Amino acid sequence: MPTSLASVTPLPQDDVPFYAPVGAECAIFEHAYRNQLPLLLKGPTGCGKTRFVAHMAARLGRPLYTVSCHDDLTAADLTGRYLLKGGDTVWVDGPLTRAVREGAICYLDEVVEARKDVTVVLHPVTDDRRTLPLERTGETLQAPPEFMLVASYNPGYQNVLKTLKPSTRQRFISLAFDFPELEAEAAIVSRESGLAQDRCIALVKVADALRNLKGQDLEEGASTRLIVYCATLIKAGLDMDTAVRVALLEPLSDDPEILNGLVRVAQIAI
Ligand code: ADP
Repeated sequence: MPTSLASVTPLPQDDVPFYAPVGAECAIFEHAYRNQLPLLLKGPTGCGKTRFVAHMAARLGRPLYTVSCHDDLTAADLTGRYLLKGGDTVWVDGPLTRAVREGAICYLDEVVEARKDVTVVLHPVTDDRRTLPLERTGETLQAPPEFMLVASYNPGYQNVLKTLKPSTRQRFISLAFDFPELEAEAAIVSRESGLAQDRCIALVKVADALRNLKGQDLEEGASTRLIVYCATLIKAGLDMDTAVRVALLEPLSDDPEILNGLVRVAQIAI
């Protein structure tokens, strides 16, 4: 595989979004980038996937185009479309096309949510052709070595209709994400919120207890993102019980009985 990338100027360390590695994910990302391999990040919501991609894009000095996929997202939303501008019809590139033209990183967050026709544009750009056919304009773009496609999805959602077809998933190398160990997660929460680390440990313990309920009463446990919200509220002066309730418990369920159960689980964990 060629590794003749145009030289990139890494950003000063201060401009690189903070990301605390949990394993070898930074090295794996860099190898994937340098060898022009698309990357799939699998893991629960709020565990650091988006931050990781922002961090790596900045480290590698590449622009980043992030698309939050939803069930109305079509191939044209990614590639582009003709729009009327002052009486003229002009072609406007979508984020994927822009990323291919500029040699940027394109991140498709929750890719399984997108409409099925999206796979039609993803397939040629994720295998060794690395081409993006633009049906409407008749162009076929050849992706430069600096272009990289990264996608994420959450295999935890128990929805058989929302899963990736093997023909799509086998075009990506895959990296599984999970929540960090207690101390590491508390350090992340402390750094993000400014709350002292020992107080963050108590919050991570609550979140861990809630995560253990996943699959029983809860579809998803409390994410690192929610713990950061909770710690931010406490740091701002809100009392711990209220912060835990609004940031760690209420976002998990709307069922009053389940919420009562969660309150008890949290009380025991604290
Ligand atoms: P995802 O994309 O997996 O849903 P995010 O990347 O948005 O999750 O992470 C949510 C928040 O959690 C981030 O904004 C950041 O504050 C925090 N976070 C989670 N993991 C890490 C990590 N390893 N390093 C730094 N921050 C993290």
